Amino acid sequence: MTLTVAIDGPAAAGKGTISKAVAAHFGFAHLDTGLLYRAVGRRTLDGTPALDAVLALVAADLEAGDLRSPEVARAASQVAAIPEVRAALVDFQRAFARRQGGAVLDGRDIGTVICPEAEAKLFVTASAEVRAERRLAELLAAGVETDLPEVLADVRERDARDEGRADAPMRPADDAHVLDTSTLDIDAAVARAVAIVEAARTAQD
Ligand code: C5P
Repeated sequence: MTLTVAIDGPAAAGKGTISKAVAAHFGFAHLDTGLLYRAVGRRTLDGTPALDAVLALVAADLEAGDLRSPEVARAASQVAAIPEVRAALVDFQRAFARRQGGAVLDGRDIGTVICPEAEAKLFVTASAEVRAERRLAELLAAGVETDLPEVLADVRERDARDEGRADAPMRPADDAHVLDTSTLDIDAAVARAVAIVEAARTAQD
């Protein structure tokens, strides 16, 4: 059985949490594709050219401890605008999407570019202010010194770059279910996502 769940959306909208919960609920494998771009971005911070970084990527890079830092997030969205970097990551993501047993991939272009044939597509979003508040809480809990104006500026800058790039810009696929989590708690958001995937699974039978 193959069934691909594509979950796209901007930073801190809740797509990571929803993706993990959906994968656990159905017993599907999960790939956080942002980690691929973060791992490449992280390597560029020490001066490695982005193309060299993407070609040298190994599985252990996805486990580096600092991939969640704001500097790495910024570098990730910069390397993600380079078409050759994106191209180098396509085959791995497509193979993952079609693996036996079902797969959930979360990112920015899964439903539009990586897996337009995905059986279930969600675009998880929330207002920039709500997302910045959530990200601030995570960063403070992780001991990062920052404040709301800085995090909000970062969120907006990353949104603009991800939406504005020429290659694979972030946008909902035409057939994506848009899930706005601004006023939903996580349990309600997960329940809606599970219902959407369940409907896709039933339609496949
Ligand atoms: O999802 P996350 O915040 O970890 O992604 C980091 C950056 O990687 C994003 O801001 C985006 O620029 C890039 N990205 C992408 N396409 C994906 C996943 C992430 O361009 N499928």
